[in-house]
Amino acid sequence: MSQNGAPDRLSPAQRNELQRRALAVAARAYAPYSSFRVGAAVLLEDGSITTGCNVENASYRLTTCAEQSAIASAVALRGPSIRIQAVVIVNLNDTASPPCGACRQTIHEFSTSSTEIFFPAAEGALTRFSIDELLPSAFLLNNL
Ligand code: ZN
Repeated sequence: MSQNGAPDRLSPAQRNELQRRALAVAARAYAPYSSFRVGAAVLLEDGSITTGCNVENASYRLTTCAEQSAIASAVALRGPSIRIQAVVIVNLNDTASPPCGACRQTIHEFSTSSTEIFFPAAEGALTRFSIDELLPSAFLLNNL
């Protein structure tokens, strides 16, 4: 169950596969400065999966998050009309890793109301959230 009590859409097998892929790509993270290695696996509505890891930079603010890397890959491979069914975010540091604010906005851009986002919360186990739970007042250009 999600935080808001909605039924799970992703099967345990699908979640496990996304988690396995996210862990595999996290091992390839470029994180020489923080040693915080993060992986993300994105399941698109068309059934395809893309992954991404964090890529740090000596100029810290140029670091790319795993979620943004996975979503950029999804757009590059599938085009601008992608819709995200689920995202699984993991790390190799055995700690909580909720998506940062920028990643929440990036996920929102390609989400629907039923998009599921899983990440290790404080307890360490994967916890499920909707994008509206993570970013209740997302920036929308047409709201200006
Ligand atoms: Zn981020």
